[in-house]
Amino acid sequence: MVFCGVEKLSCIDYPGKISCVLFVPGCNFFCPYCHNPQVVRNKLPVSMLEHEALEFISERKDFYDAVVISGGEPTLYNGLPSLCSAIKKNTGCLVKIDTNGSRPDILKLLLENNLVDYIGMDIKTDLRSDSYKQFSPDPNIVSLIKNSISLVIEMAPDYDFRTTCVSPIINSDIIKNICKDIKGARLYCLQYYNTKSDSILNKDFFNGKDPSIPNREMERLVEDGKTILSSCCLRKPYE
Ligand code: SF4
Repeated sequence: MVFCGVEKLSCIDYPGKISCVLFVPGCNFFCPYCHNPQVVRNKLPVSMLEHEALEFISERKDFYDAVVISGGEPTLYNGLPSLCSAIKKNTGCLVKIDTNGSRPDILKLLLENNLVDYIGMDIKTDLRSDSYKQFSPDPNIVSLIKNSISLVIEMAPDYDFRTTCVSPIINSDIIKNICKDIKGARLYCLQYYNTKSDSILNKDFFNGKDPSIPNREMERLVEDGKTILSSCCLRKPYE
């Protein structure tokens, strides 16, 4: 595997742990609000090779609690299981994967072989309509996401589901439907849209309007979610 970015010190990407975050290039989704267009389109130069990343983390293994593999979409890489295995063997660090949930086959492999300790999975929108078309060209995407949800709830040692709340994609009915579809989930976080970012994958989608949802409305969305799923909560920016 290769990486197009490395965050050498993070206290927020693995809850409660000091982590190193590795960013993989490329993604199979095209979320209109994505603020990493260069990463998604694979336009950034490779900044670290796999053996260099392993060496870097191994040399600092007493400092790090965890390694987070983010992106882009890490599960697009068939080498992901062997990287996770090498991180665990060579550094003893915990491993977290951030994923859009489109590759349940890879998630299953990781979970069956105890290669991940935490999965952070995005749920972009309603699974009960054709809304996922806004994010993925795959006609089977809803069933893939549902499979991933079941695997994460049943098998992941620790996890969270999260939805980035952007207008007009997200509303109260959509949050309630998502809460129904992740029934029993230990943690579901509604995230603010990162308004600080200058770059965005598809500006035209928003017709020049600000896609962020105001604080009061975000709090209302959480309250609506909580009527279905008690673990629904608000994740403040950079929390
Ligand atoms: S937000 Fe995540 S899943 Fe969506 S296009 Fe960007 S990197 Fe891919």
